[in-house]
Amino acid sequence: MATASSFKVGTARARPGAWSTGTLTLGHYPDGPITTPVNILCGTRPGPVLWVQSAIHGAECGGALGLLRLFKRIDVRRMKGAIVGVMAANPTAFRVLGRNTPYDGENMNRLFEKPSRTGHSRQAAATLIETAMGVADAAMDMHSGGQDTVVPFYSIYWEDGSPASKRGAELARATGTKAIWNSTDAWLGGAMYTAMTKRGKPAIIVECGSGGDLNDRDVGLHMGAIAGVAKAMGILPGRPKPASRILHVGTCDLLYNQRGGYFLPAVEVGAVVRKGQVIGRLMDPHGRIVEELASPKRSYIAALVREHRAIHSGTMCAECCDVLRG
Ligand SMILES: [Zn+2]
Repeated sequence: MATASSFKVGTARARPGAWSTGTLTLGHYPDGPITTPVNILCGTRPGPVLWVQSAIHGAECGGALGLLRLFKRIDVRRMKGAIVGVMAANPTAFRVLGRNTPYDGENMNRLFEKPSRTGHSRQAAATLIETAMGVADAAMDMHSGGQDTVVPFYSIYWEDGSPASKRGAELARATGTKAIWNSTDAWLGGAMYTAMTKRGKPAIIVECGSGGDLNDRDVGLHMGAIAGVAKAMGILPGRPKPASRILHVGTCDLLYNQRGGYFLPAVEVGAVVRKGQVIGRLMDPHGRIVEELASPKRSYIAALVREHRAIHSGTMCAECCDVLRG
């Protein structure tokens, strides 16, 4: 277990009873360092360390805002250990509010499986995970849908039966989400939560926020998710409050459109739909419905393209997860 007074993240040094700030270098522009802002809030007593990162998809700032709201409310005299906030896990994507890194087009949250030094995004991912593994007992990777996608409030952990996976499931419950994705999906093998779990440290994703919009409730849910996990770890006093009924979902099919046009959703995100049920339509600029997208199975809709978005063929329009139980 890490102690609250003995570590640094970049230039931010944990100090008992203090909110420390600094930066972590994740690469270099031609003329200087590419950095993310870092906040560390430290209790007055030693204890576990929780890593909370945001904006690995650059526009997804819900976790960062929730963390700041929480930090302003915590009484450090009642806190043990520390919470580390990495505010822009992909700093160059954050600056352009893009999902992927502008320099190499990479989705950084697919690059953690095999740490590599080839390319800017892989180097940055390697620095992130090595730093997190070095200081933290558990990690939360916070997402908020992005500019083009609407998501419900849910959490994801990696399901492999290991002690870290089981602890990840407990932390996912502690977020308060009504849906938990027990992930075994190969396409998420390179996500940071998967790689950390496989290396023996519990790590989860939280999704909340929609279509580039973050309202006050979304920020509150992000804050509550972080507080719940911090309580489950014994960092904050009190007990987490899991949802009274939790839907467990699993293997996710991604739906891509063949035709372009305006996207017209037919269901809400978070809905459970029948096999074959239409979940969205494409309308062309002459007003004709040119494509209907149907769920390939009974599924939980974990993401949908934002209503009325004009999209080209081959856009990822929906995430359809197996309904496991609940
Ligand atoms: Zn995301």
